[in-house]
Amino acid sequence: MLLTVEEAQKRILAHPLPIMPTERVSLLQAWGRVLAEDIVSGDDIPRFTNSSMDGFAVLANDLSQASTAQPVALRVKGTIAAGHPSAQSLAPGEAYKIMTGAPLPEGADAVVQSEWTQIPEENQVLALAAVRPGQNVRPKGQDIQRGEQVLQTGSVIKAPIVGILATVGRKEVMVYRKPRVAIIATGDELVDPGQELEPGKIRNSNSYALAASSLAAGAEPLIFPPAADTQEMISQRFRQASSADIILSSGGVSVGDFDWVKNVLSTEGSLELWRVNMKPGKPVTFGTLHNRPFFGLPGNPVSALVTFELFVRPVIRMMMASHHWQRRVLSLPLYQPFSEVHDRRHYVRSRLVQDGDRLYVWPYQKQDSAVQSSWREAEALMVVPENSGPYRSGEVLPVILLTTDS
Ligand code: AMP
Ligand code: MG
Repeated sequence: MLLTVEEAQKRILAHPLPIMPTERVSLLQAWGRVLAEDIVSGDDIPRFTNSSMDGFAVLANDLSQASTAQPVALRVKGTIAAGHPSAQSLAPGEAYKIMTGAPLPEGADAVVQSEWTQIPEENQVLALAAVRPGQNVRPKGQDIQRGEQVLQTGSVIKAPIVGILATVGRKEVMVYRKPRVAIIATGDELVDPGQELEPGKIRNSNSYALAASSLAAGAEPLIFPPAADTQEMISQRFRQASSADIILSSGGVSVGDFDWVKNVLSTEGSLELWRVNMKPGKPVTFGTLHNRPFFGLPGNPVSALVTFELFVRPVIRMMMASHHWQRRVLSLPLYQPFSEVHDRRHYVRSRLVQDGDRLYVWPYQKQDSAVQSSWREAEALMVVPENSGPYRSGEVLPVILLTTDS
């Protein structure tokens, strides 16, 4: 019996995974990282009561009867621009012209927006509408209160969080260090881009695709030169890779004559899991090597990426202490029939299509695990249960979104 994907994920995540140490980074370097401190605001935000409109600061009470038929005239004492608080206060019968974001003058309690005013003569304004106290006003502390915890350890720092950090005055912030992921492709046939291809050789694409996936997951990839298919070479590379936090290899985990990765793993570390009931990616391997989590991913380019997505990415996110390490899964109807039936769980590279206001899943035609072109713009993996199908258009299947975390 092969392990199910869920069982394999559970076993991998139950493994004692080290959490990365923390480091201090500047605001922009913090983007995409995981917050390693709770952020408490030292200020009320906004710091002062201010106008949310361009208009006139007033006393709401003065305008309680104002309408287009019966405008109320007020004396304009001056203009308050953003960044320039007024030294004087406002008395009944008076108004200040005020800009969005400018501090409300002492004594005012509302703003009537420009659209509801007329200027009959200099230093006078006619209000054409009543305002409630507090209308068009952003009170001090409305957004965040002094002493309030605004952000929590474990949050992924996206643009709004960068904005909040700047708002509360942070120039630097503590984050978890990026896990370093060592990537070692194995195979006698592999040649890196830029080097000459002899007959029978192919390009090493996995190292680069896995490095890109590691970057996207928030890690720091370290590409090692490919290892030839001998136990000695593979063992040597894995030892070199042990300065990283996670070790990934691709290729050499199947049942071929030159598939040495599992041997090296069980001799020099421990092999904890091999083969999962999935397509592509069945021979995926997990264990501990040089005290590091080790993944032996299959060599087929699509298998390598699918197993990275399902098994490696969650580990990277966990080690970064992220609260968000699982992808969102939606139930979506098929846009076209899907007729392939397999005895293993099938992770099908798919696009999403919007037709009217409905979202559909649209699998790529070619699903062979060596076909990379059908991964090109894949946004999703449709999950087809083992021994099920064929499916008609409109039938609903679970779909893993490759673009968002839950
Ligand atoms: P393996 O798992 O070593 O049996 O490899 C399975 C298939 O993937 C073979 O066709 C390999 O040539 C191919 N392959 C293995 N490693 C890579 C790589 N790094 N880049 C591209 N293709 C690879
Ligand atoms: Mg191989």
